[in-house]
Amino acid sequence: MKITVDEQKCDLCGICIDVCPDVFEKKGKRIVVAETPAAHDWSVCNACLANCPKGAITVQEQSGQKRT
Ligand code: SF4
Repeated sequence: MKITVDEQKCDLCGICIDVCPDVFEKKGKRIVVAETPAAHDWSVCNACLANCPKGAITVQEQSGQKRT
């Protein structure tokens, strides 16, 4: 599973960090994925997706299926 943040959509609100502090962190003017999220379950990842107001987060499964 791979999580990415679209910098063009992200407004740096920080909600994803509040919801998923093990996954996201702020570096300068970017939100980055803090670690390979393989250890996280779907409920955590769903929270990130559900709470991003800009739809900037994409989760891509190993099968290639994407969710935003
Ligand atoms: S919740 Fe979405 S818009 Fe807000 S900082 Fe995270 S990725 Fe960016």
